[in-house]
Amino acid sequence: MTFPVLSRSVEDYLKAVYSLNERGKAAGTNELARALEIQPASVSGMIRRLAEDGLLQHEPYRGVRLTRQGHREALKVLRRHRIIEAFLVQRLGYPWDDVHEEAERLEHAASDTLIDRMADALGNPTTDPHGAPIPTRSGRIDHPPGRSLDEVPPGTRVLVRSVPDGNRERLRYCKSVGLVPGARVTVADVDADGDCVAVAIGAGTDPVWIEGTVAQRVTVSESPRP
Ligand SMILES: [Zn+2]
Repeated sequence: MTFPVLSRSVEDYLKAVYSLNERGKAAGTNELARALEIQPASVSGMIRRLAEDGLLQHEPYRGVRLTRQGHREALKVLRRHRIIEAFLVQRLGYPWDDVHEEAERLEHAASDTLIDRMADALGNPTTDPHGAPIPTRSGRIDHPPGRSLDEVPPGTRVLVRSVPDGNRERLRYCKSVGLVPGARVTVADVDADGDCVAVAIGAGTDPVWIEGTVAQRVTVSESPRP
């Protein structure tokens, strides 16, 4: 069954629900309003509409989650977004902190054919420039086993898999300290409130403090000893 073409705002809602669910967070009216930077009052109406269209379903006490159809549509938007980012970096020489806004716009306009050809031209990459997994054209997404940086106990050496892509300043900061996909870092310390993490990036370097809001969204996996 083909689904009617979804509007830009519908796609943004589905992506926002996906991203909250993915991080194990409730997708309630307030969380969605914050993620989409709009008023909670306008979120309620849209949630109702998307539920009627079979894209979302209500989850008691946890807001909404995607139906199978909603999940499929969200992955299509994510695929377009991440392929576009990869293409801009690899083929057009964009810096990695400069591609998210372009991808936010183009993801709603590019056809699946264009995206598949861009993916072919890149050799079908499995991750975007920020390390996020790219859904396949058949709609599968592989999340390698891992956890967020803020959950790692001090003394543990880990491999950085992905960093959050939404904020330019944050990406520049990550790059300036070497917190990039593929980097091997050792968690040196976690502050008393548990919301900042000190990591040593590279051998013999002084630890740098990473804000909790960033650490929560950096995914890492176990790193074998060198
Ligand atoms: Zn992005």
